[in-house]
Amino acid sequence: MAESTSSQAPDQARGPVATLRRIAFLMERQREETRRIEAFRKAARTILPLPEEDVRRRAADGTLTELAGIGPSTAAVITDACNGVVPERLRALEETAGPLATGGEELRARLRGDLHSHSDWSDGGSPLEEMAMTAMELGHDYLVLTDHSPRLRVANGLSAERLTRQLAVVDAVNEHLDGTFTLLKGIEVDILDDGSLDQTPEMLGRLQVRVASVHSKLKMEAPQMTRRMIGAVRNPHTNVLGHCTGRLVTGGRGTRPQSQFDARAVFTACAEEGVAVEINSRPERRDPPTRLLELARDTGCLFSIDSDAHAPGQLDMLDHGAARATEAGIDPDRIVNTWERDRLLAWAASRL
Ligand SMILES: [Zn+2]
Ligand SMILES: [Zn+2]
Repeated sequence: MAESTSSQAPDQARGPVATLRRIAFLMERQREETRRIEAFRKAARTILPLPEEDVRRRAADGTLTELAGIGPSTAAVITDACNGVVPERLRALEETAGPLATGGEELRARLRGDLHSHSDWSDGGSPLEEMAMTAMELGHDYLVLTDHSPRLRVANGLSAERLTRQLAVVDAVNEHLDGTFTLLKGIEVDILDDGSLDQTPEMLGRLQVRVASVHSKLKMEAPQMTRRMIGAVRNPHTNVLGHCTGRLVTGGRGTRPQSQFDARAVFTACAEEGVAVEINSRPERRDPPTRLLELARDTGCLFSIDSDAHAPGQLDMLDHGAARATEAGIDPDRIVNTWERDRLLAWAASRL
């Protein structure tokens, strides 16, 4: 496992693009407001295609802010980086950049990838290439890109047509890589009210890993919700049951109680079908709750520790999930993202 970007030497000066990306990464991992972070990502995108000489000249002349997408604070960061200085802003962020959670370090080091992530094709904040690049820097062997399905309009869910286009982009990204890291084709497919999945079977069959999640009618009566979830779990396309209770325990979106269902019946179906129960690492979700996590453990389920990242820095949230899985005493070999890529892919294709 490669060294995590969160543990690089804080006093090490980097080039301007790397400095801007590092600031954005650290802000995202601390869940700072996306709008404030966007300035750094935008500035990095602006100067990335420019010749280094141009950037240095503008830094020296004080004309960086003439470029679209660069304001005074990002210009100051770029100027420091050009001068070989670690910007004060970055220095302050590095001071708080330790592990996000403790107790799960050993398991975290065994995680080879992440099965749940979003790009700006749906409701994520960054291009899929940036997600892939950051996953590589975190030492992952693979990242499954799981943008939302069509019915989730608020999240700009992908139609079969847009998803087809995205798959071609994923192929193009992988062609530029040396094969040690792979961006995998996936989806976070909505579980519809009747337990069917919100994408055509043909399209689902073209993907490598499928996370199925409930995003609507979370207050459905328990018997219907149980049928709905089991319907999705029994669907041979489903590999991972995403954030199973839908609860929100903290954060800017407010709180939301967990949905009601017969967890024993749902987890039994997961164990029978070989569907992994997701341990969603987002601190505002902490899903499943501990009691249900232990029930899934005792029911013999597989698990997937996922970041559900909507920005590159959030990919680092696996620390939280690893800590929870360790605390629950879950055998690492039952956690599918400790597996190497080919084993993972064979498992994901095994019911089709
Ligand atoms: Zn979701
Ligand atoms: Zn998601």
